[in-house]
Amino acid sequence: MHASRPPLLVIYTGGTLGMVETPHGLAPGEHFETRLRNALKSLAPAQRASLPDFDFLATPRTIDSSSACPADWQSLAALIENHQQAYSGIVILHGTDTLSWTATSLAFQLQGIDKPVVLTGAMHPLESRGSDALNNIEGALRFAALPALQEVALYFAGCLLRGVRARKWQTQAEDAFTSPNYPLLGEMVDGLPVLYPGRGLGDHQRGAQRFELPDYRALGPSPVVRIALWPGITARQVGALLLDDTVKGALLEVWGGGNIADDPALIEVLAQANGEGKLVTAISQCPYGRIDIGAYAAGQGLADAGVMSGDDMTPEAAMTKLIHLLAKPLSDADRKRQFLTSLTGER
Ligand code: ASP
Repeated sequence: MHASRPPLLVIYTGGTLGMVETPHGLAPGEHFETRLRNALKSLAPAQRASLPDFDFLATPRTIDSSSACPADWQSLAALIENHQQAYSGIVILHGTDTLSWTATSLAFQLQGIDKPVVLTGAMHPLESRGSDALNNIEGALRFAALPALQEVALYFAGCLLRGVRARKWQTQAEDAFTSPNYPLLGEMVDGLPVLYPGRGLGDHQRGAQRFELPDYRALGPSPVVRIALWPGITARQVGALLLDDTVKGALLEVWGGGNIADDPALIEVLAQANGEGKLVTAISQCPYGRIDIGAYAAGQGLADAGVMSGDDMTPEAAMTKLIHLLAKPLSDADRKRQFLTSLTGER
C-alpha cells in the first residue's frame, strides 16, 4: 500500500507490552522484534497487507518506564533525530507509567517535526490472552503512516492524543490515557485511522523544523520540583524544597482556578525563590481547565510573588517544559517568555 514511501521506524524502549513473567514479576523480555512480527502474522490477511512496512530498533537499555528519567528522554530524542530522515514516521513502544512524560519531553525536543512520531504501550504483555498490545501497536503504525500528522502523538485504545496534552488516567482499564484540555487528534474508525481536521500542529503553529536538543544531563539531578498544596502546608515545608540550591525551577499545583492560602510567610518563600532566579510556576490541582492567577483575592499572593501561570498545561507538560527551558542557553527573561508561550500546542 505504501510501497513508494519510506518505511516507518519502530523504536522499542521496554514497558509492559514487551514484558514476560520472571520470578520477580513482569520484566522486559528479549527478542521483541521477532515476537512482534510473529504476532502481526495473526492479523487477518487484508489487515496485514495494508500495514506499513517498518524497520525495528531497540534502545540499548529496555526498561520498565517507571525508571525513565530526563537523560532517557534526551537519548530517545537524539535517536529519533539521527534516524528520522530515512523514515516517513516513527513509532515508539514504551511503558505506560511514564509514557505521557516521554511524549511531552519529545514534543519540546522535536519542535517543528514534519512527520508523525506516535508513542504507544499496552496494559498487558503482547503474549498474554486478550492483550491490548497488538491493537495499540497496529493503530500506532497506521497513524504513523499518515503524512498529515506532523507532531508527537500518543495512540492508545482507539484514540490519538496530542502527546504534550496526554495523561495516564487509569491504573488498570485499557483506555488508560486522557487529554483533559485538548480534544482528540484522531480515532480509529472501522479499522481505519481518522485525523480530525483543524486539530493538528500540521494545520497551524508547526512552523519550520527546529529540533532543540539541549543537554538535560548538565542540569544535574532533579533541577525542578513539583509541589502540590494541601490544606495546612507551611512556608517551612515549601521552602525546604524550593530554596534548595540545586533547584532551579518549581511547579506548584494550586487550588482551583489559581488560589493559595492567605499566608504571608508562604508567599514570602515563593517571592524569595523568584528573587533568586528560580522559575516558579503554577497550574491547578483540578485536571480540567486553566488557572487565572489574580482572578480571586486568594490568588493575588501568587501574582505578587511573581509566580508564572501554567494556564491549562498538564503537570507533565509544565515540568518537562521547565527542564527543557532550563537546559537551553537562554536569558531569564527569555525563559519566562517561552514558558508563557505555546511552543508546541501545550497550552
Ligand atoms: N510499569 C510498566 C511500565 O511503565 C507499566 C506499563 O507499561 O503498562 O513500563
